[in-house]
Amino acid sequence: MRTLEIARSLADELTSLRRRLHQVPELGNELPVTQRLVLEALDGLDLEVSVGKELSSVVAVLRGRAVRPGGGPRPVVLLRGDMDALPVTEDLDLAYASTHAGLMHACGHDLHVAGLVGSARILHGLRDQLAGDVVFMFQPGEEGPGGADVMIREGLLDAAGRRVDAAYALHVYSAEFPRGVWFGRPGPLMAAADEVRVRVIGEGGHGSAPFRSKDPIPAACEMVLALQSMVTRAFDVFDPVVVTVGRIAGGTKDNIIPDDAVFEATLRTLSEDNRAAVRERIERLVTGIAAAHGLGVEVDFTIGYPVTVNDPDEYAFATDTIVDMFGSDRYATMLEPISGSEDFSFVAQQVPSAYVNLSVCPSEDWESAPDNHSPRAEFDDALLPDAAALLAELALRRLSR
Ligand SMILES: [Zn+2]
Repeated sequence: MRTLEIARSLADELTSLRRRLHQVPELGNELPVTQRLVLEALDGLDLEVSVGKELSSVVAVLRGRAVRPGGGPRPVVLLRGDMDALPVTEDLDLAYASTHAGLMHACGHDLHVAGLVGSARILHGLRDQLAGDVVFMFQPGEEGPGGADVMIREGLLDAAGRRVDAAYALHVYSAEFPRGVWFGRPGPLMAAADEVRVRVIGEGGHGSAPFRSKDPIPAACEMVLALQSMVTRAFDVFDPVVVTVGRIAGGTKDNIIPDDAVFEATLRTLSEDNRAAVRERIERLVTGIAAAHGLGVEVDFTIGYPVTVNDPDEYAFATDTIVDMFGSDRYATMLEPISGSEDFSFVAQQVPSAYVNLSVCPSEDWESAPDNHSPRAEFDDALLPDAAALLAELALRRLSR
């Protein structure tokens, strides 16, 4: 496989880029150092490069030079790598340790950047065989506040002058599957993550005489419990919903009834239907409980990332390509989605997409190795050429379809 051969010849270069990135982790949508390293790494390639206005993204377009047999519109494929790090203090003894105090590439996005640069180098070398164009999406803010939707607003999906036809992304894992195994599933892969903040409004007074005030505390407690009953009674167990109240607050002292009480919950859903329904149900339930007790209520939802859905055809194409390149023992289908979330979902909402994971766990003991986001998460960059080659191969094959 030509892509794999070229990728292996780039191994040293990609490893040193990844390690350089690992030393300078940055947070959110402002990643000036990372952006500069990406621009330097792409320098000299025949690409149309642009940078974000509201965020430090990089979009590069590679024009293929092959003639499309039979003519017809030239397809466009998008390859994505997220670039941001986490507010985690690294607890590893690495020669290329983070030099930014309190920050760490604990989710392996440094490998995503190096892998995507690798795929650009590979495809640039093969551009005479590309019967269409490739958009490389270097994205900030995946861990929050979200960069993909901003990039889409800034024209990402039309960067090549024509709409993107298919999009691919990968994620590395420091545990959970043996090193070198690709894994994923068709359909819903990751959950939507929204938030709700509920304020129960009463009337404060003396704790010894609750009948002379309107106590918000018992009603808030009732709501928290009723939310859990609602999840089990109103939603199909095979289309799971998670409502976790992670914060509840009210009052100052045992003998004072406060004016209000507040709680906040994260809402995880795996279908857009449930995503809308859970908000409607929560609103109805807390409004009803408040009314039953003669209290007021304010309900505020914060809309987060949508469900990440793998298009069945694009996902089958991606896994066929994986098996073809690396063998069937290096692929596993996940039995269930995960309740984490990912803002590549904004791309996948608009373009048929495939998102696959790769275990780069350096330890034999992958079952108990530290997970992504741990201060001890370790990512084996010896697998970088595989990541770069897969992205390149997906683009190459998809464009010649
Ligand atoms: Zn991540």
